[in-house]
Amino acid sequence: MMAAIAAAKNGADVTLLEKNEKLGKKLYITGKGRCNVTNACDREDFFDHVVSNPRFLYSAYAKWNNWDMEAFLEDEGLALKTERGNRVFPVSDKSSDVIRTLQRAMERAGVKYSLYTEVESLWLSGEIPRCLGVQLRDGSRIEADAVIVATGGLSYPSTGSDGAGYRFARSAGHTQTECIPSLVPFDAVFEDGSSCKELQGLSLKNVGMQVLENGKKLTGDFGEMLFTHFGVSGPLVLTASSQITARLNRNSAGKTVHPERPHPEAAHPERNHPEGAHPEAAHPEGAHPELNHPERKHPGNSHLRILIDLKPALTEEQLDRRFLRELEAGPNKQMKNLLVSLYPSRLVPVVLRLAGVSPEKCGREITKEERQRLVATTKALPLRILRTRDFKEAIITQGGISVKEIRPATMESRIVKGLYFAGEVLDVDAYTGGYNLQIAWSTGYTAGCAAASLEERK
Ligand SMILES: Cc1cc2nc3c(=O)[nH]c(=O)nc-3n(C[C@H](O)[C@H](O)[C@H](O)COP(=O)(O)OP(=O)(O)OC[C@H]3O[C@@H](n4cnc5c(N)ncnc54)[C@H](O)[C@@H]3O)c2cc1C
Repeated sequence: MMAAIAAAKNGADVTLLEKNEKLGKKLYITGKGRCNVTNACDREDFFDHVVSNPRFLYSAYAKWNNWDMEAFLEDEGLALKTERGNRVFPVSDKSSDVIRTLQRAMERAGVKYSLYTEVESLWLSGEIPRCLGVQLRDGSRIEADAVIVATGGLSYPSTGSDGAGYRFARSAGHTQTECIPSLVPFDAVFEDGSSCKELQGLSLKNVGMQVLENGKKLTGDFGEMLFTHFGVSGPLVLTASSQITARLNRNSAGKTVHPERPHPEAAHPERNHPEGAHPEAAHPEGAHPELNHPERKHPGNSHLRILIDLKPALTEEQLDRRFLRELEAGPNKQMKNLLVSLYPSRLVPVVLRLAGVSPEKCGREITKEERQRLVATTKALPLRILRTRDFKEAIITQGGISVKEIRPATMESRIVKGLYFAGEVLDVDAYTGGYNLQIAWSTGYTAGCAAASLEERK
């Protein structure tokens, strides 16, 4: 939508093709239905929050940054507010208002849009590497001076982002880096192998969380996390996932999927399918089957551990003194009752079990070693990460169309003239906080402006 608006405002005759029955289906579910449209941070902070290929985004961000986006939405009549962590939301707290605003802006700019219209493939010239338009699912073709692919990634495929753009890109000779779910919860068990199910729904605020690989710290932060029936989720976990999803999901870092066939032959929709089958029949996700299948499950990885610091404000010594006070105040109280002053009650049996302390023991019976084990477990409650959840539960896709083959100042393909890419389909991703949508706005705007410019269209 942003790309369409930018192109139309720059004089192009634009048609947006959307296969769904309405626009912005994913936008609708963003920010838990409130849509965290961007982040009101400065440039440095913005790029600190981009996980993959931040440099590629320098130019697009310079053309259309978070402040441009805020001003644009407000000029279009959408009042915004900034919350904790500089997260920007509509004042109404309704993502539908963001969609309505973009739709209105599109209509005002003269963008035509066609719903229930699924693009099947790119229409590419056989002689010179040039995009001539698109072929639709119904077999018809639409001619265009320029085509912008903004089909999203693989996450939440029910919203329409099923990876079709990767297939388009590969047919045009582009490389796709391996796609893996990110900003995603983990399947996890406690160190003793017991399930997290007993704590399902328990949210821990103001805790510390570290992820370690073979004892080496990979990432760590403070904040909020949530236990679920399968393991762990919540802000701390999602943020950590951006950094470790590759370790859990990739066999080798930076693995890529190469073009289906060298351009230009492979680019013809009719000749494009290795088995002569309908591409979606061969690969329902529109992407490389082994790498991108949303259902694929990886075996549990026992190298990665989570350690939760339940009392980050206290040192081990301070915590030990606190335990001593509690034990002295309740010498005849059983541990399962005594510790409810220290942890949420549902957590007490888990801490006691992992520390190897009987819940039936009374305060006066606790040995120094047992107390020390309680301190150690409280400062580092251990869980084993098995795997990430799949694309259906991932907020974003890490990986995508290799940015090496895209011109950063225009988002145009370096391989095929007149072909542009924007948004999550590219190999760029960021942490939560409005950064991923800002990437879509910045790259969409850049692609729209460039695609509309006469110079580019020649
Ligand atoms: C639950 C959830 C919450 C999120 N919350 C936030 C948030 O608050 N803030 C934030 O910054 N980011 C958030 N994100 C991430 C953000 O939504 C995405 O990064 C962003 O929507 C990507 O935009 P896009 O335009 O590239 O792709 P999408 O928004 O996925 O749009 C792609 C569109 O292309 C259409 N399409 C695909 N293939 C075809 C085809 N062959 N023919 C025609 N149309 C096609 C799809 O139907 C879809 O409408 C969230 C994501 C999820 C899943």
